[in-house]
Amino acid sequence: MSTHVVILGAGFGGLELSARLAAAGVDVAITLIDKNEGFVFGFSKFELMFGRQELDDVSLYYRDIVTPGVQFHQELVTSIDPTTRRVVTDRNSYDADVLVVALGAEYDLDVPPGFREGGYEFYSIAGALRVREVLPSFTSGRAVVGVLGEPYKCPPAPCEGAMLLDEYLTERGVRPDIEISVVSPWGMPIPASQPASQAILDRFAERNIAFIPDQVVTGLDPAKKVALLRDGGSLPYDLFLGVPIHRVPAVVAESGLAVDGWIPVEKTNLATRFPNVYAIGDVTSAPVPKAGVFAESAGRAVAEHLIAELRGGGSPTPYDGAGTCYIEFGDRKVGRVDADFLTGPGVTAPFYGPSLEKAEEKREFAVIRRQRWFGSA
Ligand SMILES: Cc1cc2nc3c(=O)[nH]c(=O)nc-3n(C[C@H](O)[C@H](O)[C@H](O)COP(=O)(O)OP(=O)(O)OC[C@H]3O[C@@H](n4cnc5c(N)ncnc54)[C@H](O)[C@@H]3O)c2cc1C
Repeated sequence: MSTHVVILGAGFGGLELSARLAAAGVDVAITLIDKNEGFVFGFSKFELMFGRQELDDVSLYYRDIVTPGVQFHQELVTSIDPTTRRVVTDRNSYDADVLVVALGAEYDLDVPPGFREGGYEFYSIAGALRVREVLPSFTSGRAVVGVLGEPYKCPPAPCEGAMLLDEYLTERGVRPDIEISVVSPWGMPIPASQPASQAILDRFAERNIAFIPDQVVTGLDPAKKVALLRDGGSLPYDLFLGVPIHRVPAVVAESGLAVDGWIPVEKTNLATRFPNVYAIGDVTSAPVPKAGVFAESAGRAVAEHLIAELRGGGSPTPYDGAGTCYIEFGDRKVGRVDADFLTGPGVTAPFYGPSLEKAEEKREFAVIRRQRWFGSA
């Protein structure tokens, strides 16, 4: 009998794992479950937010998966028992030989106080589409991109949002009447890469974007239009774009898999403390940033580990915590950081400056993944 591998979540991590496993020629039956009808790259939220593309243009529909051996089910996972590896959805139940939880992170928009009433977010599709509706009427005042708490997905994203906002407002001719600032919990835009951080700060200086380090926004006062900062200070705003508080999905919190908010995993192979249950990507507390490329490399590591086990031997490469991050700098230019968190004694993250060529490379990155994950051209 084939080994039944059940993968919960068809995001960056789940898609990579299912594609790698299916391509290996091992005897597995793969069940891939997601509540949505399609995948959208995190970075496509910028396309939606600034009205560059429509949702349909950036959606990769799961119905198009033609990879042999992968059965996709559009269902909501409602319970996970990691001891028996039984998963219940709104329509079915599944018993897994190997269970992989790749359900990502969700957002809590009810904290901090005032955020739901007084702010916007561009981290969800719905949020990005709402921002898109309000941007055309924002012609003067103060825009604040503020981080509400850690951890959060894609460390460069708040700064990317600000640089793209600058480009958008400049193209509309209203930039001189608008101040832009970014509130970051860190001393620099991306602590893992000093050169990338410096390039972002240089661009900020050139484009008159303020960087407010070592702060988080602890609340909004929508009546006064003021963002409250951790150090007791405050920042007036007319448009507040928050990076929301992240949490594991409720079904994960209820499963007993999470400890201190996230699922702990073995660093080398992403195993949880439950036999034959793995977790990958944003849902874990693996020592890497929450980003698609690290979810993807985790998917690859689990695939290699399972393939070696199914073949009865071999020594799979341990999880490298590595990935290529593209950073939007505005003016259609993109920079690149090749981050490696786990293979050496420390983090390495060389940076390649913004260019139109790297913007093309980023487009190619998306095309390659669509082909690999969906099995179609
Ligand atoms: C604005 C922005 C820009 C970004 N830019 C980049 C970038 O340039 N590069 C990069 O690498 N990362 C980027 N990211 C981060 C990236 O999108 C995430 O880190 C990545 O998607 C995480 O992958 P994952 O597989 O862990 O989770 P996800 O890709 O979030 O997948 C989780 C899946 O689980 C499903 N799910 C959740 N709960 C249930 C349930 N109960 N039942 C069924 N299905 C469920 C969801 O529908 C989802 O499809 C960006 C994020 C944002 C918000």
